[in-house]
Amino acid sequence: MKSHYRVVVIGGGVVGASVLYHLAKFGWTDVVLIERNVLTAGSSWHAAGGIHALNADPNMAALQAYTIDLLSEIEAESGQDIGLRMTGGITIASSPDRWDLLQDAHRTYQSIGIDDTYLMTPDEIAKAHPVMDTTGVLGGMYAAREGYVDTTGVVHAYARAARQRGAEVVEHNRVTELHRTPEGWQVVTEQGTITAEHVVNAGGLWAKQVGRMAGLELPVSPLSHHYLHTETIPEIAALDHEIPMCVDPEGFFYSRQYQQGMLIGIYEVNHNHWMMDGAPWNYGIELLQEDPDRIEHELTCAFTRFPALQNVGVKDWVHGAFTFSPDGNPLVGPVRGVPGYWLACGVMAGFLQGGGVGKTLAEWMIHGETETDSWSMDIARYGDFASNKEYIRQTTGQFYSRRFVMTYPNEQLPAGRPLKMAPAHSEMDAAGARWGESYGLEVPLYFAPRDFEETPTLRRSNAFDIVGAECRAVRQAAGLLDITGFSRFEITGPNAESWLNRVLAGRMPAPGRARLAPMLAHSGRLRGDLTLFNWGDGSFWLMGSYYLRNWHMRWFDDRWHDGVMIRDISDDWVGFSLSGPRSLEVLERLTDGEVALPFMGCRAMDVGLSRAKVGRLSVTGELGYEVNVRASDHITLRRALLEAGADLGLVEYGYNALTSLRLEKSFGAWRSEYTQDRTPAMVGLDRWIDWTKDDFIGREAAFSARDTAPERVLATLEIDADGADASGYEPVWSEGTVVGYVTSGGYGHVVEKSLALALVDPAVATPGTALSVHVVGQERPAKVIAPSPYDPEGRAMRTT
Ligand SMILES: Cc1cc2nc3c(=O)[nH]c(=O)nc-3n(C[C@H](O)[C@H](O)[C@H](O)COP(=O)(O)OP(=O)(O)OC[C@H]3O[C@@H](n4cnc5c(N)ncnc54)[C@H](O)[C@@H]3O)c2cc1C
Repeated sequence: MKSHYRVVVIGGGVVGASVLYHLAKFGWTDVVLIERNVLTAGSSWHAAGGIHALNADPNMAALQAYTIDLLSEIEAESGQDIGLRMTGGITIASSPDRWDLLQDAHRTYQSIGIDDTYLMTPDEIAKAHPVMDTTGVLGGMYAAREGYVDTTGVVHAYARAARQRGAEVVEHNRVTELHRTPEGWQVVTEQGTITAEHVVNAGGLWAKQVGRMAGLELPVSPLSHHYLHTETIPEIAALDHEIPMCVDPEGFFYSRQYQQGMLIGIYEVNHNHWMMDGAPWNYGIELLQEDPDRIEHELTCAFTRFPALQNVGVKDWVHGAFTFSPDGNPLVGPVRGVPGYWLACGVMAGFLQGGGVGKTLAEWMIHGETETDSWSMDIARYGDFASNKEYIRQTTGQFYSRRFVMTYPNEQLPAGRPLKMAPAHSEMDAAGARWGESYGLEVPLYFAPRDFEETPTLRRSNAFDIVGAECRAVRQAAGLLDITGFSRFEITGPNAESWLNRVLAGRMPAPGRARLAPMLAHSGRLRGDLTLFNWGDGSFWLMGSYYLRNWHMRWFDDRWHDGVMIRDISDDWVGFSLSGPRSLEVLERLTDGEVALPFMGCRAMDVGLSRAKVGRLSVTGELGYEVNVRASDHITLRRALLEAGADLGLVEYGYNALTSLRLEKSFGAWRSEYTQDRTPAMVGLDRWIDWTKDDFIGREAAFSARDTAPERVLATLEIDADGADASGYEPVWSEGTVVGYVTSGGYGHVVEKSLALALVDPAVATPGTALSVHVVGQERPAKVIAPSPYDPEGRAMRTT
């Protein structure tokens, strides 16, 4: 072991080994992995080693596909046998909604290039899996890229391949302390102190403690998990081929062949946290005592699905622990405020996702950004609120228990809620608000009568008419939307304007004006779709999506400059968006004289009793005003606006209506149309770039992309829908070929059309082109229409 390395990776489980391998593969070879015990000594040695293609999040599915493809590569490269058995796998559906979901998922995979899945009838399933009783099974999805590995072999293969490329591995050496110094990190280990530019927390079951060494309280907790191996099953022994893997979500179990018997693993509803503060340092290569009583119901499901299990004994139990984040996705990336400290932890399925996590982190460390959209695993999706132990307990427990439970797109889950509430929350609640959640904050989805209950569904829900009425009210009169769920950053100081001019790709707004402000990475890909306000007093605001607060602040911090002060004021400033043809009348009643704000104008003014900062813009495409006030004035502002608009038809509305209204205007949104792996040209944000500027981040890349036609462009589609609308990632077809996919969709209640925005091949993007789209797994005719089916000239927004 040397005294200096560029990178110290802490932890020799599958994730740490994969990070080490990818760093070395991409050219950083002055790297070392430090392991407390021996490689695999955390969760990795006793994992079931199953690899499944399915994931509800398409970005995670793509990451899993990368890992699965990598496995045979590292086996060949390292010469280490990893026991890879690609048996294929079947996920079965025994409820109509699950069957719909599987058909939908099969189509989603086609959109993202996973083209080796197909749907199966119960008869086909019975033939492929002869020990299964298919009673009650409605269908299944077969995925060719499923199977299992020898887990110890995989960790050693990554480590051996990394060593062959120049990396080092040191075992039996615990990292005991971390200190940040001007020279980098002092990594104190049992065998001596190392100075390193970067450290990676790949501590697995101990990630919590390795986080605390750097002053972090990471949102991660271990939970315990069972699987068992059976004795030989004669029906399996008699087969001349291996049975495929099988997941029965309604039975809460997964399974595969194990020698001539089976392996059955359980995700029980009655979950069990284990050592929430992280495993003890002296926890060895050991198992927990099995607890069959806790998983009795799920075991009964498995024994019913595979009756042959009833005639054989359990050979052995594996009851161990592994870590979960609140949403079950990994925690990866740099941590805001802790330079050189990187995360690669909270990885629930290390053998399935570890390859992708290693690749993503290595790219991030070496190139400053990742090749694909890393948001789903980025630590920045959580803020301080997620360090709370009770929040972690509730959310990780909920994730575990619901691992195989179907979550509907319109379903709201209760864990860790309500946490953050807007000051006017109680009043909106009394007015019938139904709540969603964004970065811990409760946000209104729609307003409904007290006794209304929304039914979870993949199709249009019983809230359809309620949301429709809100949309019509906004377009015909006026609507009020709580915009506490927008982020606000204040930028001041002598160099504020020049800093903004460099960080943002757009033109600087004149004093008293606002502008849409795309922000780019050096690669020319998107980093934000912000709105910049120049208040005219030397202060600027950037407004964006609330859930991106930490993500944007980390970006700003890393590009901070002398003479610039950047403050996240999202907790201090809140507001309401007032929009609709009568919104000016409402506002005028609360102001002293004329509002006199041009389109995209902004200024401080009195609104009722509040001193407000008002911008004239709206996401609805109507005449509209965003009225921002201090948090203490939120209730006062709401009451004043509602009272002033009572006889003008003003209604409160929620974010579900906003989605419908923005789709009618073909306005994109972050995470749907705008993502960090897309360029402005693909999604139409290039028209906001100031090509005359000498310097801005991403300028060079944006210029070189400018003359190349993008592979995909954004198009607006009208779908001949039938009780269900597209929502995202559905494939778009032209004469039997996939030509793109939906980025967001829904019903346009005012234009009375099922609409979608989709990224498609430019050859089919011309209005009038006939296409088709799979909606909840069913193919529906669609056609490209001109953008902005509502008010294409944008008159409503601009009228004074
Ligand atoms: C019963 C069971 C079944 C599972 N089945 C599957 C499956 O089928 N498929 C799948 O993909 N996943 C499965 N998993 C999950 C999988 O095991 C984990 O996702 C994976 O092992 C996590 O790897 P890791 O590298 O993050 O953590 P770990 O394997 O816990 O490794 C962390 C390592 O860091 C070391 N370390 C920690 N702190 C320090 C320190 N301060 N100094 C030095 N070293 C340190 C530890 O000793 C340990 O070796 C299962 C897990 C269990 C328990």
